[in-house]
Amino acid sequence: MTDLYRLLPEEMEQLVVDMGYPRYRADQILLPLYYKFPKVINDIPQLPKKLREDLTEAGYTIGSAKETHRVVSDDGDTTKLLLNLTDGTPVETVLIQYPSSKINGHPRSTICVSTQIGCAMGCVFCATGQMGFEKNIRAEEIVAQVIHFADILQQRGEHVTNLVFMGMGEPMANYDEMIRAVRILTHDRGFGIGQRNITISTIGLISGIDKLAEEDLQVGLAISLHAPNNELRKKLVPTAGPNSVEDIIEAGRRYFKKTGRRVTFEYALMKGINDSPKIATELAILLKGNGSHVNLIPINPTAGDFNRPTQDSIREFERILFNAGVNCTVRIEKGIEISAACGQLRIDIVG
Ligand code: SAH
Ligand code: SF4
Repeated sequence: MTDLYRLLPEEMEQLVVDMGYPRYRADQILLPLYYKFPKVINDIPQLPKKLREDLTEAGYTIGSAKETHRVVSDDGDTTKLLLNLTDGTPVETVLIQYPSSKINGHPRSTICVSTQIGCAMGCVFCATGQMGFEKNIRAEEIVAQVIHFADILQQRGEHVTNLVFMGMGEPMANYDEMIRAVRILTHDRGFGIGQRNITISTIGLISGIDKLAEEDLQVGLAISLHAPNNELRKKLVPTAGPNSVEDIIEAGRRYFKKTGRRVTFEYALMKGINDSPKIATELAILLKGNGSHVNLIPINPTAGDFNRPTQDSIREFERILFNAGVNCTVRIEKGIEISAACGQLRIDIVG
């Protein structure tokens, strides 16, 4: 069985040619796949019946994610879904809308996709990390998460404007499937989202960052730093291993040099752990002068005994970075009441 959502447009072309059909038939599959979201091959009426039969006989299918739970935040801006993958594994996917930020009259609509079930990195504050690693998500299953929301949005006259790889799992630890999904989703004959509207977030796997820089893609990179020194980082990211803070920052610099895309450092702020003015100063010294951007994320209390800092200490942390000339924003966490941090809904429902 091969899911048609797994194929790059060039591969789709090769497939129809190999089956003895003219090349243009590929577009008659691709267009409906990415604009009409059919659930089965027979939902593509413009394809000759014989081709539909040939595809089915050759074991091609259209995979889709089956929604089993939906939670919407009180303000309606965040929708979190549990989707069953084709093998029945539940995965978390989130839509975050920003009604005040309009793109061509439509609200900015960001989909947050998962790349793994669980995660082997074991970050102590992360619900997904505490689950341990279960399995990698295939490219077509990453695409299916986006298609599911694209369908929901289309019915409201809206569309997906941005994509972030910030759901469950470490994208760089599932590199080949992640990059295949990015190529399908950004291909102008595929889903067609702009490369610049995608951000890939990593815990700092250096080989993955360097590989991504060579892909000739204009995707954004976010590196989850969380600490300005190795001693503290190791406590928060126990698997950080040989990837030192300095090496990770250096890899971010190489990514910027190669792609021209600014790198964002994510920093989950935890009360009494990594939020002191001393640590802010250390972080400022580490990052100043290299044009990096810091995204401060007040922690969503999930795993372990981690709490959000007070508003005052968040502001103070931000001020220290700002005064050192380090570009910094505080991420307004949307949907905290629906367990918006990655992995939380799945834990609430599946355990
Ligand atoms: N594995 C990748 C991408 C998925 S996690 C990474 O770690 O970057 C996406 C982001 O959510 C990361 O920045 C991570 O630090 C953050 N995160 C995880 N648990 C969180 C929590 N409980 N509260 C706030 N942010 C959290
Ligand atoms: Fe994995 Fe990212 Fe969670 Fe760390 S924060 S455990 S890398 S998903």
